[in-house]
Amino acid sequence: MYDYLIVGAGLYGAVFAQQKTEQGKKCLVIDRRDHIAGNIYSEQIEGIEVHKYGPHIFHTDKENVWEYVNRFAKFNHFTYCPVADYRGELYNLPFNMNTFTKMWPDVKTPADAEKKLAEQRAEFAEIEPKNLEEQALKLVGRDIYEKLIKGYTEKQWGRPCNELPSFIIKRLPVRMTFDNNYFNHPHQGIPIGGYTAMVEKMLIGTEVRLDEDYLSNRESYDALADKVIYTGQIDEYYGYQFGELQYRSLRFETEVLDVGNYQGVAGMNYTDSDTPFTRIVEHKHFEFGNRNPDKTVITREYSQTWSKGMDAYYPVNDAENAALYEKYKELSDKESKVRFGGRLGTYRYMDMDQVINEALMDAGA
Ligand code: UDP
Repeated sequence: MYDYLIVGAGLYGAVFAQQKTEQGKKCLVIDRRDHIAGNIYSEQIEGIEVHKYGPHIFHTDKENVWEYVNRFAKFNHFTYCPVADYRGELYNLPFNMNTFTKMWPDVKTPADAEKKLAEQRAEFAEIEPKNLEEQALKLVGRDIYEKLIKGYTEKQWGRPCNELPSFIIKRLPVRMTFDNNYFNHPHQGIPIGGYTAMVEKMLIGTEVRLDEDYLSNRESYDALADKVIYTGQIDEYYGYQFGELQYRSLRFETEVLDVGNYQGVAGMNYTDSDTPFTRIVEHKHFEFGNRNPDKTVITREYSQTWSKGMDAYYPVNDAENAALYEKYKELSDKESKVRFGGRLGTYRYMDMDQVINEALMDAGA
């Protein structure tokens, strides 16, 4: 008999299991995939660590989380500085002085940029943004919205910007310095040796069984443990009884190329609406001193509407889905044996550090 059955060997499940095992509890982690680490899974191709389910850049402002992950991996000093390709014009992201001086050649100083942005924003100054389009126009004005936000966002979320909630865009900083670092947090990096090795280390001492599908044999799994921690989709757990929550899924096209350096940067966002993919990730740039000079691995990322059988990546946090999630949440609040955690279990667009923080709290650390 186990104290905890943890369904899902992703980040939430691994941290929760690690904590409980450390507290002397007996845990079993199962996952229906054939590998641990969920969507942060990475594996070597041509000596390059490849992020199989999309790029993951670890960043946090939570000291406890930073100390925690450093127990399981050393982090390199990678900072994410993606570039946007708009019909062949290249711009630095996030929106900063490098972006502004390229977008508007007469802008040279922060004061020039402020003035230009004020002009660009003027017609939207008085509006109270009701959707992402209005929010973006109010934040950065027409030029940046048209070239760097509209196409990318509509591909990413599969619907027009004026039908999307405005908070999505608030993730993006606007900076009056020549600083291309995408994140504002004091700690950032990629685990040396890869995310899979980090999760493997978390799971030392915990029993893990792969290729095991909890939902196909729920009763016999439940009988194994006192408590169940479920990190899969909450609507799937409840048999979609109130209907399906919406998710965005991704399709990845990964290629090994016989060139040493394809795009010179880890992330290139294609921000026009015609290019069918949202971005190209060149994995070797996440590592420093990668010693394969002749080959590189790139992944084109296509955003798509989730349907049953696909992997779910992003919850669609609009009002309609929030209301539907609340119905599932009500059911889950009444459970005494099972608890839900992680991005899919709680239907929230969380970063890795938030997921870890919640797992630590839920495990009573
Ligand atoms: N975004 C954009 N242009 C870009 C990159 C991002 O307009 O080149 C917007 C887009 O709406 C996206 C949001 O910013 O959904 C958040 O992007 P982020 O890169 O934080 O998303 P994630 O890394 O989680 O996919």
